[in-house]
Amino acid sequence: MGLEQFYLICTYVIAGLVGLCVGSFLNVVIYRLPNGMKMSKPASHCTTCDYTLKWYDNIPVVSYIMLGGKCRKCKEPISPRYISVEILNAALWLLSVALFWEKNPVYAVISAIAMSALICIFFIDLEHLLIYNRFLIILGVLGVVAIFFDKYTRWYDHLIGAAAFGAAFLLIYYGAIWVLKREGLGFGDVKFAFVAGLLLGWQRMLFAMLIASVSASIVLLILRRVRGDEQGKEYPFGPFISVGIAVSLFVGAPIITWYLGLIGF
Ligand SMILES: [Zn+2]
Repeated sequence: MGLEQFYLICTYVIAGLVGLCVGSFLNVVIYRLPNGMKMSKPASHCTTCDYTLKWYDNIPVVSYIMLGGKCRKCKEPISPRYISVEILNAALWLLSVALFWEKNPVYAVISAIAMSALICIFFIDLEHLLIYNRFLIILGVLGVVAIFFDKYTRWYDHLIGAAAFGAAFLLIYYGAIWVLKREGLGFGDVKFAFVAGLLLGWQRMLFAMLIASVSASIVLLILRRVRGDEQGKEYPFGPFISVGIAVSLFVGAPIITWYLGLIGF
């Protein structure tokens, strides 16, 4: 094995392990932020019996499996969201390394941080219909860095993406208020579209929005048909945008190139 291969394997191992630990922290953020709690205090505890978790109850994935997904003291089931977020974050970090690290390490880091922010937006918006500005600011900063380090797009593609999709969402937002006399989407979604356009550039943002709207329509149809949701019920759009961005950031470039080749460009 060459030295380069050895370094690459080390990078994977570190990305996986740090990804799990960061995923564990994201769980704290996802739970505490909407509940108005501080990040550091109190120490992690069972939400049912208040048992304060020891360090060995807090090891990502391992503790959850060892405890059989139940609290050590009261045996109340722990939400599977905890282990899901840890594994999801580690998996998306590994994917960022696998796809980008060798050719463009800065973009791999942009991708990994973006994935963690998107996980927070996904789960908080899903439960609370709320997108916190701090995650949008993180994505916006990553978008500015991407202008310089994204090798797939030209610098102005990112500015066009932000302007075009920010404006389009703003139009939908005020259009819905004007025509329907209510919000068709939240103002958080408008800001989200702006920073996502900046991060991805307009080409990949177009692909991200295609995924977001198609998946949202399918899920909405299923919820109404199967679960019998009423017509006027409010749904978050942020989780769908998050999924769209993640998919497009990873595979948007080759798919768009393939498609343009197909239609003769
Ligand atoms: Zn408990």
